[in-house]
Parts: sequence; structure tokens; C-alpha cells
Amino acid sequence: MKYFSSNFKLGILGGGQLGKMLLYTTRKFDIHTLVLDPSAEAPSKLACNEFFQGDLMDYDTVYNFGKKVDTLTFEIENVNIEALKTLEKEGVKVYPSSKTLEKIQNKATQKLFYIDHNLPTAPFQRFAYTEEIYSAIEHSSIAFPFVWKSAQFGYDGNGVKVVRSKEDLKGLPNVECVAEELVLFKNELAVIVSRNIQGDVKAYPVVEMEFHPEANQVEYVLCPARISDEIANKAKQVALKTSAAFDHVGLLAVELFLTQTDEILINEVAPRPHNSGHQTIEASYTSQFEQHIRAVLGLPLGSTENKLSSVMVNLVGAENHQGEAVYENIEKLMEMDGVTPHIYGKKETRPFRKMGHVTVVHSNIENARTIAEKVKKSIKVISK
Ligand code: ADP
Repeated sequence: MKYFSSNFKLGILGGGQLGKMLLYTTRKFDIHTLVLDPSAEAPSKLACNEFFQGDLMDYDTVYNFGKKVDTLTFEIENVNIEALKTLEKEGVKVYPSSKTLEKIQNKATQKLFYIDHNLPTAPFQRFAYTEEIYSAIEHSSIAFPFVWKSAQFGYDGNGVKVVRSKEDLKGLPNVECVAEELVLFKNELAVIVSRNIQGDVKAYPVVEMEFHPEANQVEYVLCPARISDEIANKAKQVALKTSAAFDHVGLLAVELFLTQTDEILINEVAPRPHNSGHQTIEASYTSQFEQHIRAVLGLPLGSTENKLSSVMVNLVGAENHQGEAVYENIEKLMEMDGVTPHIYGKKETRPFRKMGHVTVVHSNIENARTIAEKVKKSIKVISK
């Protein structure tokens, strides 16, 4: 199959910022792409060849979209799996497969997968409804503190809560969930593993993620992580083992905890480009987005080596600002060497909404981190 300047059609479910950045590659390679997204103003809209508006969880919408393409991929996990299964049966190439996605879409199923495959993860209990946790507390089969996680539809920390008392359970949705041991980690790390149709595998360097204390959202990503070679190697091995167990095609971002005793535990995985890999656009020989496209088309994987060290800063909507977005002081950071802003193109800002990111590259990771802090302090996403 010819992909470049041909009749081949690649479909992408989801047209957010991850989709938009995937399209940098399809534009570069002149690969014809179709995008489906619920929003008429999706960031991907302008960069794809054909745009369709529709519900990603609706069977008919996903099925009818899938019938228009040769290969189908996604930039978001919350898509209709039954439609993917039918499309696969009817000959559409779906990567990552419905089988991979099915194991990941539900956090309880995902955690059980780790246990079944002897992969390290924090101890947990699964509950059909949040309400059932009360009786587990009464029977002392669960102890405070623990981390409550909605099994489905959580993202960017909004389906996660640290529970220290019964009070903290109040107001949580009564849905399928897991209660996980609170890990007192030293660091949060991530490794993006790429695997193409032929089974070739390449992992990116281990990154370190720094989180915003309130929003539970990544604030900085540092590449490479400031850890010893020994720990980096351990993290990479866990990520590669996880990737092999899922036997996925495309990217698998593996989020990890480094515990106080230098154990590596898997937090969760995402079978798509990930926030922990945005810096690869400027800092790596092959961006994660290009790598995903290469992988799902069965092309040779590119080098995952760093050209430079980097820090990625998420640009999120400022608190108390809602409405049409303004990027205050963006010119200031464009005066700094090695600093590149990315604006996703979402018209409306709201508190903590991911509106863009900034990549800082430098030969030295500590210097990059210092500049990243200046970037964070200077730019603000506010409303008009
Ligand atoms: P999401 O899918 O919304 O990104 P995660 O499961 O990754 O949710 O959790 C978001 C963040 O919450 C993590 O990055 C971490 O900072 C914190 N967290 C999650 N699980 C635990 C845990 N078991 N112990 C301590 N902190 C946790």
C-alpha cells in the first residue's frame, strides 16, 4: 500500500490537540487524513483533509466514519469499541486494536491486566459502585488513606481523588471505581514505547513529570529524567515488558511511580500520543506523533534519541478566567532562546483547560528547568 501522495486514507478518531499534532506529520508526508470530533471547532479541523463532526461514543457515527478509511487510529480512549470491532471484522485496519483499547479503557480492567501479567502496580480493590466502599470501610477491608479512581471517563486527574476520611467520599459519583493504595512516590516518571505492525519496538528516554498540586495535572515534563542510569534502565524495562504484554500497535505511554524504596510501579497507560511526549517535537530525532503514524502504517520506526535536553510546560487556563482566550506575554517568551510555544487553537479558556504548551530545549537539563520556570511565570492564558 502506498501512503504518500496517494488515495490511501487514514482516519483519526478525536480532533483535539493530540490529533492536531499528529497532523503535522501527515501534512509533512502528504498522507490524506479524515478526522472525527464532536466539536465543530476542533483544533484538528484545519489541518486534516476531511473533517466530520460527530459523537465518538456513538456506534453508527464511528462505524460510518471508519468505513470511509483504510486505516483507523485514535487520539482519545473514549471511543465506541463495538464499532471498532465490527470495522476490524470488515477489513478496516484499526491500530491500536479494539482488543488493546478494551483492556485500557476501563481502569479496573487495566489494573487486573497488570496483576495477570505479573507487572508491578499499587495494590487496589475494585468496586461496582462508589457506595460499596462504605461497607468495605465498616468491615475494615479497606483503610485510609487511599486513592479513589473512576473506572471510566476520567482524564487529566478529574476522575481521581485522595480519600483520607469518610467525608472525602461525599460528592463522588456513584460509579464503577477502584480504590488504590496511596503511593508516597519520590517521582512520577513516564516512558513512551512505540511498536509498529511488524513488531519492531523503540522506547523514548525516561521523562520526569512534575504535577500541579491542586489540579492533579502535569505542569512540567523533564527529558531526560534526573535519575540514575540504573533507575532509568529499570523504568525502561518495566515499560518494555508492559508494551510486550499489551502487544499493541502504535504508541503506549507508560506512567510510572518511583517509590521511596526505588521500586517502579505502573500507574496507568495510554495507547496514543501523550502529554509526557510533547517535547519530542523539538528535542527528539523523531517526534512521538511521527512515530505513532509510522507505527500504525507499518513504516520503519524513527530514532528515539534526544537531540537536546528539554522541559515541556503545559499552558493551562488561569484560574478565574473563562471566555475567549488571550495569551498574555507570549512575545516575552519568544525572545528567549530555545523556547517554542504551541497554541492548540481552542477558542474558549477556562481554569486548568489545556490551551497549549511550551517546549524549552537546552544542552543542560537544569538550565532548561530554570528557563521553564521563567516561561511559566511570564505567560498567562486569560480571557478577554
Ligand atoms: P488520569 O487518568 O486522570 O491522568 P491518574 O490515574 O494518572 O489519572 O492520576 C492522576 C495523578 O494522581 C497521578 O499522576 C498522581 O499524581 C496521582 N495519583 C494517582 N494514583 C495515585 C496513587 N496510587 N498514589 C499517589 N498518587 C496517585
